[in-house]
Amino acid sequence: MRFLKGNKIFDGRQYLPEGSVLVVDSQNKLKEIVAITSIQNDKVEAFEGIVTPGFVNAHCHLELSHLKGKIQKHTGIPGFGKQIILQRMSGITKEKIHENAIAADEEMWKNGIVAVGDISNADDSFKTKQNSRIKYHTFVEILGLNPSNEKIMFDLSLPFLKLLQSLGLAGSLAPHAPYSTSLQLIERIANFDKENNLPLSIHNQETKEETKFFLGQPNGFRDLYDFLKADISWFKAPVCSSLKSYINSFNDQKTMLVHNTFSTKEDIEMAVNKNCFFCFCPNANLYIENKLPDYSLFKEHTNNLCLGTDSLASNEGLDLIDEANVVLKNSNSFSLETILQMITFNNASALNLENEFGSLIPGKNTGLNLVNFSDNQLQLIKKII
Ligand SMILES: [Zn+2]
Repeated sequence: MRFLKGNKIFDGRQYLPEGSVLVVDSQNKLKEIVAITSIQNDKVEAFEGIVTPGFVNAHCHLELSHLKGKIQKHTGIPGFGKQIILQRMSGITKEKIHENAIAADEEMWKNGIVAVGDISNADDSFKTKQNSRIKYHTFVEILGLNPSNEKIMFDLSLPFLKLLQSLGLAGSLAPHAPYSTSLQLIERIANFDKENNLPLSIHNQETKEETKFFLGQPNGFRDLYDFLKADISWFKAPVCSSLKSYINSFNDQKTMLVHNTFSTKEDIEMAVNKNCFFCFCPNANLYIENKLPDYSLFKEHTNNLCLGTDSLASNEGLDLIDEANVVLKNSNSFSLETILQMITFNNASALNLENEFGSLIPGKNTGLNLVNFSDNQLQLIKKII
């Protein structure tokens, strides 16, 4: 049995009362939380810093890890999408993808991450996830803007979810983004996840071009679809924000909206009323669009905010502390507790993993990290367990 304390202990949502001690068993499971007065002093391991549960990365694409340093910065999302497609056509081997996914998985573990919400377009990363010490919830991503392909695209993706489940891995289906997935397909996916009590995720308002696309204004997606030789002349812009056009497809289920860089106050209110979480990936936003969300618009909704790393195609590392520090540097809208909640409890909750990760749960090994906070920046001192 170990008896652990820090200068402060953060339980995923708040600090524990001063003098709290974590009692951890030989399998690193939390046995109980007790007052220091009930323990013999020389038995207590005291850490300099804040003790937190293991971190949960709300958004990643492990299968894109081999693209680190290969994608040009600041091209905007249509340009980024084009580069990803060109890279996919470049004939990279499955072995290379696998090798890079293993290294990325290891990097996250070292950075104190114990659970991840991860997007998959194929099964390239499944083996890595199966052998990992990290718990993954995989979102099998579906694209298909043409409503007439709705059933085909859904049926093509379902076997990936079945395969994932046959390997003992958790997963859901997820639409990619409103500019790449028809309203009908989003609805079908949302209904499937609702029926199966699974969390949902979608990339949302990552670029101004998305808003223009939905307002019927000239936009970069036209060029992308030209490049793909996809005829979208049938597409009729709904003349409202993208989020407004599809939000009623959700059935009050847990839904993670990823990015939200161009979301307005009205969009945010709408989404909160629909049980949505907002996941920020600040380093990826700077990499691709060179623009961050206006975090002050979100400051009332502290229980709905998440942080993710996105992939190594648009980031130099997979480090939640680094993401948190970008937010801290660029906004004073959030307290340190809220920032810590954004890398622990909220993310676990958005992924339906709150009974296993993201807080101090008796009977569970949720990991424990030691962090330091000085000069308005966080630092991971070490993984305690
Ligand atoms: Zn993403």
